[in-house]
Amino acid sequence: MLDAWQYIRAQRFVVARFGRQFTASREYAEIDITYRCNLKCFNCNRSCTQAPSRTDMPIATIAGFIEQSLDQGVRWKRIRLLGGEPTLHKRIFEIVGLLNKYRAEHNPDLRLVLGTNFHGRQVREVIARLPENVVIKSTLKTSRKNLFRPFNNAPCDRPFYHWADYASGCRIIAECGLGVTPSGYFMCAIAGGIDRIFGYNLGRQRLPVADDPLADQMGAYCRVCGHFGFQWPTRKRKLSPTWRTAYARLKQ
Ligand code: SF4
Ligand code: SF4
Repeated sequence: MLDAWQYIRAQRFVVARFGRQFTASREYAEIDITYRCNLKCFNCNRSCTQAPSRTDMPIATIAGFIEQSLDQGVRWKRIRLLGGEPTLHKRIFEIVGLLNKYRAEHNPDLRLVLGTNFHGRQVREVIARLPENVVIKSTLKTSRKNLFRPFNNAPCDRPFYHWADYASGCRIIAECGLGVTPSGYFMCAIAGGIDRIFGYNLGRQRLPVADDPLADQMGAYCRVCGHFGFQWPTRKRKLSPTWRTAYARLKQ
């Protein structure tokens, strides 16, 4: 239902009448600390299966994010550590320590969450050693066939989206928050994963200021993202021509 409304709300004539629905969050942030993953799910929205990578976010990027948040007076309500599988980052304990220090000194109400697939011994051992004040959100994945939106079914490959205003974004911007990724800051972390494949280089290299609408990012990344508008979740692998070409180019 929400997706159907999202589809209608993103049509150009509706946007022209009512304006864009979503702006970058100043309350929630998701940090993709690594693109390593020990699972190979179909339709992974960070392309960990389609284009595996061992990219880890440097600690300095997270320190910079904290510093710039303080400079701009942004008081995050929730920060999620994600990936890939975040527990596979070799310096996960330092990262958690840095964010816990930020919480203790500047933002005691912060909810610090780590999202994990909870798959395999190594992952579980790391989780067991994390401080108790980190909330663990486990997706408990056991196979490659999870019920996901067909991330690689690009709206721009479908006539159904002919009248869409891609710069409208989707509700993930509001629900999940700002993306802090190895390629920079984006309106959502998924866009950072898309940038890794398409190389548009539109990530901001510093925390975006409050009046940056990030509309250029939405216009570029949402047009290829299967979360845009309305699509039924599926357990089957789906790959539309734009994505097929992009992965092939990356492999070359
Ligand atoms: S566990 Fe998550 S990050 Fe890893 S392949 Fe599956 S969807 Fe992607
Ligand atoms: S890139 Fe995808 S998840 Fe992010 S705002 Fe656009 S449609 Fe939503």
